[in-house]
Amino acid sequence: MNVHPAKLEVRFREKFFVEKVVEEAVRRALGPLAAAASLGVGGQGSGGAWAGVGVAIPSGGAQELFPVEPLTPGTRPLAPLLQVFDTYLLFQTDSGVAIVDQHSAHERVLYETVMRQLAGDGAPAQRLLLPLTVEFTPPELDAIEAHRELLRRVGYEIEPFSGRTVVVHTAPNPHPRFDAARCLQELVADLAGGRFGGWANRLERFSATFACRAAIKAGQRLELEEMRELVGRLLTATLPAHDVHGRPTIVQLPKDELERRFGRS
Ligand SMILES: [Zn+2]
Repeated sequence: MNVHPAKLEVRFREKFFVEKVVEEAVRRALGPLAAAASLGVGGQGSGGAWAGVGVAIPSGGAQELFPVEPLTPGTRPLAPLLQVFDTYLLFQTDSGVAIVDQHSAHERVLYETVMRQLAGDGAPAQRLLLPLTVEFTPPELDAIEAHRELLRRVGYEIEPFSGRTVVVHTAPNPHPRFDAARCLQELVADLAGGRFGGWANRLERFSATFACRAAIKAGQRLELEEMRELVGRLLTATLPAHDVHGRPTIVQLPKDELERRFGRS
């Protein structure tokens, strides 16, 4: 999806107010915890972007009615986190129910991580025990050549093999369900096709393309710890409210709205 930057800017502005409110509500609910959790944002750990601690989501007041034992400072009860349609993550905030799109959320997190990594030492890569061989079209091979250094810095070490085939020695490892060959094929097809062509900055364009293709997809079932970590990382992102396409990462169903619909207000 290519959106002209000017149009995107207008869309951002139109949505800004509503989503700013959502973002602030979620930050209020999760801020103390997000700040406290040692997320190691930047994902430099050897385990890749999913590595790190699970994030405790503060719950509403219910558990205070049944205190079992005093909580040690800095720890909070884990609020339920529910995945629906293998695509959306739901949890309670102070003011309603937050709904996170898992692809958009991970795309935002990866985009910021990759921008930092490209400005620094690059991403940790995994050497493949069995190097992959992947076939490309001539325009795609040109795109690989033109982006070889950026591909290497996000973790793909690629060499020409024979004819239209390349051999891949190392790959990134952004999450446990990552399919290195599929991501590379999609990424290179996008680079050859000029996806995100409206973005002026080459580094940002590459990072957005990579983030979109490397992120967890809609329709992938996640473990509870993966959900917690993804939500925690999203809420510590610099611009958590949108993915690289300008779509929202979080939508909130306000408690007031529930009360209104059930005739409670
Ligand atoms: Zn995307």
